Amino acid sequence: MQLVIGLGGNRGDVARAFSRALDDLARGLRVLARSGVWRSAPQGPPQPDYLNAAVLVETDRHPAELLALCQRLETAAGRDRTREERWGPRTLDLDLLLAPGLVIESIVLTLPHPRLDERRFALAPAAEAAPGWRHPRLHRTLPELAARPAILVQRCERIGPFPTAPAR
Ligand code: ADP
Ligand code: MG
Repeated sequence: MQLVIGLGGNRGDVARAFSRALDDLARGLRVLARSGVWRSAPQGPPQPDYLNAAVLVETDRHPAELLALCQRLETAAGRDRTREERWGPRTLDLDLLLAPGLVIESIVLTLPHPRLDERRFALAPAAEAAPGWRHPRLHRTLPELAARPAILVQRCERIGPFPTAPAR
């Protein structure tokens, strides 16, 4: 199964957290494409700008297993969910954004991500990683969804390629 994972963060060295997360993901699954890095306005309480990106991966694992893996990588990046406010600053946020034709609504996992279609910081990187994919509920491609006027008013700009770090 192929799936797009969104990355975000606004505390600490986020570019480094992204490159480490990519290395760690690449150990357990195949990374087929990656977006550039985008800088976006925060949503929720006042806080610093975010960096965002997305990767297209292929795996045999169930999406719920993949979510658990992503949450372990968040913790490894210093994230402590028990001590943060909702939509407040975080070192690394990994969200499962969508998979072709796959709709899931369970207690732990909703696919496509419930707020994917209203967030430019999720849509723009996802559209770079998987330009041909359609949203399984809305039946429009990611670039189409990203180009809607209500999305384009959100401050979000591409600032460079996906970060790579020197070997650890
Ligand atoms: P957000 O990403 O919305 O800012 P969190 O990262 O704190 O917030 O995630 C809150 C919860 O959302 C997680 O505990 C997770 O179980 C749930 N969740 C449901 N669907 C998804 C998804 N597609 N990707 C990531 N988390 C999800
Ligand atoms: Mg999340």
